[in-house]
Amino acid sequence: MPKRTKPQVVSGVSPSGSLNPHIQAQRRKLRPPGEYVRGILEGSRVMLSQAITLIESTRPEHQKLAQEIIGLCLPHSGHSIRIGITGSPGVGKSTFIEALGLLLLEQGRRLAVLAIDPSSKVSKGSILGDKTRMEKLSGSEAAFIRPSPAGESLGGVARKTRESIILCEAAGYDTIIIETVGVGQSETAVHSMADFFLLLLLPGAGDELQGIKRGIVEMADLIAVNKADGERLPLAKRARQEYRNALHLFPPKESGWAPKVEVCSATTGLGIPEAWQQVLSHWKTTEENGYFLKNRRNQAYYWLRESINQQLLAAFAQDPAVQEKRKAVEQAVLEGKLSPFQGAEELVALFLGG
Ligand code: GDP
Repeated sequence: MPKRTKPQVVSGVSPSGSLNPHIQAQRRKLRPPGEYVRGILEGSRVMLSQAITLIESTRPEHQKLAQEIIGLCLPHSGHSIRIGITGSPGVGKSTFIEALGLLLLEQGRRLAVLAIDPSSKVSKGSILGDKTRMEKLSGSEAAFIRPSPAGESLGGVARKTRESIILCEAAGYDTIIIETVGVGQSETAVHSMADFFLLLLLPGAGDELQGIKRGIVEMADLIAVNKADGERLPLAKRARQEYRNALHLFPPKESGWAPKVEVCSATTGLGIPEAWQQVLSHWKTTEENGYFLKNRRNQAYYWLRESINQQLLAAFAQDPAVQEKRKAVEQAVLEGKLSPFQGAEELVALFLGG
C-alpha cells in the first residue's frame, strides 16, 4: 500500500478535508425538499445557503435534491432586477457593489450578490471569497452575499450561479448582482443571465491595458469610469468622453437602449445614485418595449440548450463503450491516421449504440 502522506497546506488555503463546512454539515443531514423550500420562501438565509451548497455539490444525491428544490422554487422566481457587473481586478467592483448595495438597502430593497469566477479553485475564491470585502453589506439582514462556486469549468460555475439566482429570488431578493472578473469568457456567461450589464473601467488606461475586449464594451448597458476622485477626476471625465465617442460607432442595441457612459467613485459615492437611476431607466424602457421579457425568454432558451449540451457531454464521457475506445481514437487522430471528424463519428456511433 502506498504510504499516506500528510495533505499539504498552502498558506491561506484550506486543506481539501475542510474545503466546505456547509457540505460537511449536509453529509450528516439532508432534509426533505419541502423543508428547504419553506425556509427559502420565509427568507431564511441559512436555508438558502444550505440549498445553494447542494446546488454546488457534485454528489448525485445532493444534485437530485437541489433540482427538486429548484423546481419548487421556480414558480416563486423571476421577480427581480438582475445586474451583471464586470471589470478587471482592482477596478473597484466590490467597493462599488457595497456602495450601491447600501443605497439599495436604504430604499428598502433586498440584495443578493453572486459571483462567477471560474478561476476560484477553493471556497476562498479570488472574488467575493475574502470576508473583508463588502463588510458593511454582508452585516445586513437584507443582503445575501455568496462567493463563486469553487474549482470548476466556466460552464459548471455559470449553471450553478444561474440556479442560485432562482433560489435567491424565491427568498425575496428583488435585486440580484452577478459579479465577474473582466477576463476570459465569464462576461458572456454573466450577460446570459443579467437584465442589465455594467462595465467598470479605470480612468486613464487604454482598453488594451485593462484587458477589455471590444465585445465586452459592446455588451455594456452602462460603462462607469470608476475612481473619479482626487486627481483622477479630470482623467475620468476625459475617458468618459472617449467612450461616448466610441459607443456612437456601435450599431443600436436590440433592446432599444442607448448605452450610457458615466463617471463614478465607489469611495466618495459620486455617480452611484445616478448609476442606479440608469438601471431603473433601462428597466422601464425594456419593460415598455417588450424586450425585458423577450430577453429573459431568450436566456431561458439559451440555458436549455446549454444544459442539453452539458448533460449530453457528461453522458458521453461516462459511457463505458466510449471510455473503452476513446484513447485509441484520440491517438489515431493525433497520429493523423484518422480525421477528427471520423474519430468523432466513430465515438458518437458507439455512444448511440451503433
Ligand atoms: P475589485 O477587485 O474590482 O473588486 O476592486 P476593489 O473593490 O477590491 O478595489 C480595489 C482597490 O481600489 C481598493 O483598495 C479600493 O479601496 C480602491 N477603490 C475602489 N473604488 C475606488 C474609488 O472609487 N476611488 C478610489 N480612489 N479608490 C477606489
